[in-house]
Amino acid sequence: MIELRDVSKRYPASGRPALDRVSATVGAGEFVFLIGPSGSGKSTLLRLLLREDVPTSGSILIDGLDVAGLPRRKVPKLRQRIGCVFQDFRLLPKRTVAGNVAFALEVLGRTPSEIRIAVPELLEMVGLQGKAERLPHELSGGEQQRVAIARASVNRPPLLLADEPTGNLDPETGREIMQVLERINRAGTTVLMATHDSSIVDAMRRRVIELADGGVLRDEARAVYGAGR
Ligand code: ADP
Ligand code: ADP
Repeated sequence: MIELRDVSKRYPASGRPALDRVSATVGAGEFVFLIGPSGSGKSTLLRLLLREDVPTSGSILIDGLDVAGLPRRKVPKLRQRIGCVFQDFRLLPKRTVAGNVAFALEVLGRTPSEIRIAVPELLEMVGLQGKAERLPHELSGGEQQRVAIARASVNRPPLLLADEPTGNLDPETGREIMQVLERINRAGTTVLMATHDSSIVDAMRRRVIELADGGVLRDEARAVYGAGR
């Protein structure tokens, strides 16, 4: 699903590289936590996977697609294969819950009748049936994150990237969001989640890739947050 080979990223006008010869392979259907202190390179790695930026050297394959070498006109096709969830939800504030999910389907060119069928299914998947007509500001943080997950799932993407998805949520709500992500993972989507949330990592016991100073410090199956220190 994801293959990183000797990926390095050096930003202009900065000394040490943000990523330094990172290699890792993530298989289809895996659930992987990406951890490491602030500044260790997690966001840079997620940006490279989305082709928001390109590596200085090394190669990145997603589903066999050469992300770094992809011509610009093929970038939208790559991004259609990758769902994204963020710490700050990033919903459209003036659209309803259903409208937010519908918008993502409209962008994909789905017909109104396809959208009418898909939106309630997606809202049910994330446990938001009954909230379709609410506006984002009328929802709790956990509910807003559920909308964001539903929106990220419209295309049944093979890969879901989550950047601190529980970072703005209380612990109980964070655990509920993890159940939603687990369900999506069980349905076949590969999940790569950057997080600082040690209790969630410890509770889930999934693969952990730990970055430090741009390099892979640890890559361990069924791991906890604090091992190896
Ligand atoms: P993390 O997400 O783990 O906090 P980042 O990927 O944001 O780490 O940052 C890794 C390193 O790259 C840090 O030293 C950071 O200062 C640097 N960095 C990140 N983005 C930029 C940028 N746009 N320009 C210059 N340096 C950057
Ligand atoms: P907004 O004002 O938030 O954009 P709209 O009511 O204009 O929301 O709806 C946008 C799209 O969302 C509509 O074209 C429709 O396909 C879909 N939609 C809206 N409400 C629902 C709903 N309750 N169930 C399913 N689809 C809906």
